[in-house]
Amino acid sequence: MKEIFLLKLGEIVLKGANKRQFESKLRQNIRRRMKAYGNFDVYLIQSTVYVEPMDDACDIDGAWEACNSIFGVVSLCRCRPCEKNMDAIFAAVEEYLGDDLDCAKSFKVESKRSDKRFPMTSIAISQEIGGRLAEAHPGVAVDVHDPDYTVYVEIRDLAAYVHGPAQPGAGGLPTGVGGRAMCLLSGGIDSPVAAYMIAKRGVEIECVHFFSYPYTSQLAKDKVLELARLVTRYSGRMTVDIVSFTEIQEAIRDNCPEEFFTLIMRRFMMEIAQRIAKQHGCGALITGENLGQVASQTMEAMTVTGAVVDIPVFMPLVGMDKEEIVTIARRIGTLETSILPYEDCCTVFTPKHPKTKPTLGQVIHAERDLDREALIQKALDTYEKVTVKYHDETGI
Ligand code: ATP
Ligand code: MG
Repeated sequence: MKEIFLLKLGEIVLKGANKRQFESKLRQNIRRRMKAYGNFDVYLIQSTVYVEPMDDACDIDGAWEACNSIFGVVSLCRCRPCEKNMDAIFAAVEEYLGDDLDCAKSFKVESKRSDKRFPMTSIAISQEIGGRLAEAHPGVAVDVHDPDYTVYVEIRDLAAYVHGPAQPGAGGLPTGVGGRAMCLLSGGIDSPVAAYMIAKRGVEIECVHFFSYPYTSQLAKDKVLELARLVTRYSGRMTVDIVSFTEIQEAIRDNCPEEFFTLIMRRFMMEIAQRIAKQHGCGALITGENLGQVASQTMEAMTVTGAVVDIPVFMPLVGMDKEEIVTIARRIGTLETSILPYEDCCTVFTPKHPKTKPTLGQVIHAERDLDREALIQKALDTYEKVTVKYHDETGI
């Protein structure tokens, strides 16, 4: 017997002129996401997206898992459609939810009637189905105030739907309604979480990674691409721009005072990232910076690194504790990869005593022997673009 998913949209963002754009983007995103799991019909009625498998070859569990990571969905449930009459509804509840009900100590039925042509009120529907279920399951008490389990009956336009408790969705806004931003992605714990958090606000993500072969290995680069792939589970496919940073780092090592190494390196990263971002239509940069975490993440250091950029720099983790960041990394599935022990170019030529309270004047002075523009231009001329998708084998 058939099972379909109902995905509910966020209420607040549904108000006003954005509603239509929001809804059509979400439907489009879900359609694209479902392709990897078979032939699904995806349609939207009254702020609810219906995801319906069209044949037996559909991978229902895979599709359900994917629906859990689609931004713009506040809650979702798997349900059984049936005819809009009380016998059919009762039979559907019995068959679809009967076992769950038997495991509960108490239950209630909650009904919603969005098809106002249906002759019974919601309360009458709940009473009748509740009464029949109480008779069929004498071991489970009725408790309308604090039930262990709730059976939901929804009378909608096309059919009636029965389901158990809905679960929270990924939240946020549909990917693509908030423009594009470029995340500086390292192999650490923080930057993939930062990318995820901005993606959650409806922003399409592109990533840039700086690597310093042979100081950093191919394995370190593969790790970053894997992190990007894990983020695409939420953000959809993305491009990762891999920028060779070796020459810039060697130039800094050979020409600048050691205490400024990291700061100068980060100024190069930000400036190169911004130039690629502008070429690719990204309106902001994203970093995983976190106030006070390391020497380059003080206010003074951020002033110095931010000075080379004139678009917004989003730092969604700036005020979080490491533990909070780790919790999100674990939940979104990036933590295990992040903690693999490969080096990052930030740890190449790390100063013994980095400057924590630099001024912009000091740093510009420390950079005076570098041909910044030539180094940046060379990096821009030689970077590599890699397309990353969650399901590499299907191309979706
Ligand atoms: P993360 O866990 O993200 O590596 P971190 O705490 O190690 O962060 P830093 O190494 O100081 O912090 O880097 C701060 C930010 O700079 C990172 O969150 C990331 O956005 C960016 N960054 C650092 N290294 C790289 C790199 N090799 N390529 C691209 N971006 C980088
Ligand atoms: Mg790092």
